[in-house]
Amino acid sequence: MKYAVKAWSNGRARAGVLQLGGGGGCPGPLEIETPSLLLPTRKCLPHFISPDLLPSLPSPDSRLLQFSPLHFLEGLSMQTISNLGGLHQMLGLHEYGLVAVPRDSIQCLPASEATNKFGASFETPCGRCLIKPKEYTEMISSMRPDIWVTLADEVPTWVSEKRNCSSVDRTIRWLDECIALRPLGGDIFGSIVGGANVQQRQRCAEEVVKRNVSGYWIGGFGLGESMDERPALLKAVCDNLPEEKPRLVCGLGLPEEVLQGVAAGIDLFDTMYIYHITIGGFALTFPLDKIGASELIPYSSDIGSDQTKINLRATVYQKDAAPIVQSCSCYTCKNHTKAYINHLLNVHEMLAQILLEIHNTHHFLGFFRLIREAIKEGKFERFREKFIHDRREHLAISSVHA
Ligand SMILES: [Zn+2]
Repeated sequence: MKYAVKAWSNGRARAGVLQLGGGGGCPGPLEIETPSLLLPTRKCLPHFISPDLLPSLPSPDSRLLQFSPLHFLEGLSMQTISNLGGLHQMLGLHEYGLVAVPRDSIQCLPASEATNKFGASFETPCGRCLIKPKEYTEMISSMRPDIWVTLADEVPTWVSEKRNCSSVDRTIRWLDECIALRPLGGDIFGSIVGGANVQQRQRCAEEVVKRNVSGYWIGGFGLGESMDERPALLKAVCDNLPEEKPRLVCGLGLPEEVLQGVAAGIDLFDTMYIYHITIGGFALTFPLDKIGASELIPYSSDIGSDQTKINLRATVYQKDAAPIVQSCSCYTCKNHTKAYINHLLNVHEMLAQILLEIHNTHHFLGFFRLIREAIKEGKFERFREKFIHDRREHLAISSVHA
């Protein structure tokens, strides 16, 4: 794996290129421009998009897939996965980069109350599991991802300072153990935690930087901290990280949160946002133009719009013959209307989620593309302000009409 920063905007926001190939299982060179999204998956495949439709997503932007090794605990043995040649071989995903992160925010949630000095506890489809560094690195050796994140003790913000401090100690110790076990996977991203405490965040970052890792995974977000607390926490971490290595954050997923992360110097985002809105019947609709919103979506109390997305279950779409977004080039918008998706949702056809996930993935990747362009042009902060301003304006109008 190689990474290089190519452009800066407004101090910390940065655009770069991540290159995969050779190290892990991904055979061909794969170049991903950052800031970028790791597509959320279950067992390496998006939740509703089948493998034959994967190539229809924007490429190469959609070729970095996040998965949790714990998803595979309920099925094949690690030995079988290893015998099949690892996950790239097993799934036929030869042109995709696989990034292993122990947790996700749907099925493998950290269960900090059951975590102890031996390993991290997770709620998984197989029940609560305690995963020790040795077991985890064995999974990595069998699966051979391109990038893997070390085991972390993530805690919510409401735990005591003592518990937060011990989570940092354990995360650093497990990082050392994971490195010492030398699994066969690709590049290592060292985990950084520290909850909502600036000093602990800083301490963890300083310690992880001393280790031989290729990049950093910043966890422990989305676990109770407020949006106002985040800039100081992200700054405490990113100020201590070397510029030449990539930073991946988990737990920031809303468009405003992504902008917050990019402003702090984050390169990669590991989020289940697309899954959550798709399962809720929402479609992303915010305008994708260079300086933010050019036109606001007409207000209607039935639309369920918050300026970033619409609720396609709303009755107002029952006879709407237009695509979700007129200018969108995705399969869904090229072939189907809002009325059809509204019907599919009402009769509980899974095709609704398939079509929504295709559109939402396209749209969110388009948002990341705009962010990169804004950084390259040195206009990131203006882009961010315009986006947030337009959204607030819309919410103000909505509250007047409510
Ligand atoms: Zn679309």
